[in-house]
Amino acid sequence: MKTVLITGAYRGLGFEAARQLSERGWQVILTARRKTEGAAAARKLKNATFLDLDITKDMSVSRAAKKVPTLDVLINNAAIIDDNDRDILTISREIMARTIETNALGALRVSQAFMPPLLKSAAGRIVNVSSGAGQLTDMGTWSPAYAASKTTLNAITGLLAAALKDKGIAVNSVCPGWVRTEMGGSNAPRSVEQGASGIVWLAADAPQEKTGLFWRDKEVIPW
Ligand code: NDP
Repeated sequence: MKTVLITGAYRGLGFEAARQLSERGWQVILTARRKTEGAAAARKLKNATFLDLDITKDMSVSRAAKKVPTLDVLINNAAIIDDNDRDILTISREIMARTIETNALGALRVSQAFMPPLLKSAAGRIVNVSSGAGQLTDMGTWSPAYAASKTTLNAITGLLAAALKDKGIAVNSVCPGWVRTEMGGSNAPRSVEQGASGIVWLAADAPQEKTGLFWRDKEVIPW
């Protein structure tokens, strides 16, 4: 039985990925910074435990990492978006910094802290939940802090993949598409089940040798 840890997993795509993997018999470590909601979400799943984990806080991340002896897959899912109505010409650097700190450096912080248990896996994986908004090949004007944070996350994916290739750990980014969650809103065309399926595929079914790539719908997409 494989073990997966998912950040920001009490709702949305993180919870749905947790649900789909628990249905396959995986051991799920559901994490969230909201203890009550996180513990309640874990109780809804088979084979799931809850860990309190705020991806922006070193102490919170290292405390959680000490409780996980072995890990096969880490899904860096937690993220914020605070700049739907901003543009790059006037956005505050504070929003830029907070968003990059959470969405990109949060994933790096968690990846570094959980490296010892991941290195014990025979075929470890890190799945970074990114966004088409971060594609340099398609840079637009929408949500500049969020877009820059996901571009940075993609760079971290490439750097981790290169650093971990010899150790057999695959590291990839995935865009779930535009999905009906609290972040995606009710007008999004994709259900949460559809959105999570690409994340679950990378966590469980993609060939282990595929690393350092950006995916959507099981296809490689440009950075
Ligand atoms: P939600 O807003 O529903 O979920 C985001 C989760 O991240 C929440 O559980 C939130 O918890 C958590 N989170 C935020 N900050 C932190 C933190 N510091 N520590 C721990 N948890 C935190 O969004 P989605 O499910 O839609 O998004 C999941 C992922 O998919 C994100 O990475 C997002 O960028 C990506 N994505 C989503 C798209 C969409 O259309 N929905 C499109 C492209 C990418 P809390 O309540 O505590 O803030």
